[in-house]
Amino acid sequence: MSAATASADAAAVIEVAGLDKAYDTPMGPFPVLKGVSLAIHAGEFVAIMGPSGSGKSTFMNILGCLDRPSGGDYILDGKHVSALDKDQTALLRNRTIGFVFQGFNLLPRMSLEDNVALPLVYCGVDKEERRQRARELLAKVGLGQYAKSLPNRISGGQQQRVAIARALVNRPRLILADEPTGNLDSHTSEEIMALFEELNREGITIVLVTHEPDIAQHAKRQVRFLDGRIVHDAPTHHDLPAGEVQPC
Ligand code: ADP
Ligand code: MG
Repeated sequence: MSAATASADAAAVIEVAGLDKAYDTPMGPFPVLKGVSLAIHAGEFVAIMGPSGSGKSTFMNILGCLDRPSGGDYILDGKHVSALDKDQTALLRNRTIGFVFQGFNLLPRMSLEDNVALPLVYCGVDKEERRQRARELLAKVGLGQYAKSLPNRISGGQQQRVAIARALVNRPRLILADEPTGNLDSHTSEEIMALFEELNREGITIVLVTHEPDIAQHAKRQVRFLDGRIVHDAPTHHDLPAGEVQPC
């Protein structure tokens, strides 16, 4: 096994050990992540929580290979990310990860279908297959009838569904979502979380940042950051509805 594919934990989709991140600032390095270690396995649904400024987005950007750590190890899907060059990292990212952001990030002058199909353009998939795959995914998120519409014709919740369809277009095994319900009302947020739950039941590993406890309840595991460190990591505690008897 080469160094680039060695993994201490073969079943982990994500494995980080002793991860540090400091941003360069005019006043010198500003430490944000301080020795973060975490393993996430296939099929998990993890909520990353913690106060604003605790390093959640910094951590997600490193998991998504959008930024590099200052120290420590990151193994994604069995590959040491630090051993890869820029092109290899981009390839691994495109094959493995779908991203969902708070602001949806749809291109305003492109139809919903073209927005969803866009990641496939960079993979050299032909036009007809791109169209077909985008249509399938828009139908999956309940928006098949809007394929030719522009993003401003639909609501924020619907735009986030389109962004999720776009994140799925490469058939990723992992979805990274940074505050995906941050711009949505609570009813719409619940609908989006039901969609994430459905994707997780289908086998996609999900790592989702939220600071709302109700949203985190949809995850199976909760990890809390405080000042660049993990201070809590445990399965989600689900209260039984009143009157329900716990099976023995
Ligand atoms: P969170 O997502 O938990 O709110 P972030 O990871 O966005 O936290 O930010 C953690 C800290 O790092 C904050 O103090 C933020 O101001 C700082 N920070 C984030 N990005 C940069 C950057 N590019 N350069 C310098 N400081 C940054
Ligand atoms: Mg953030």
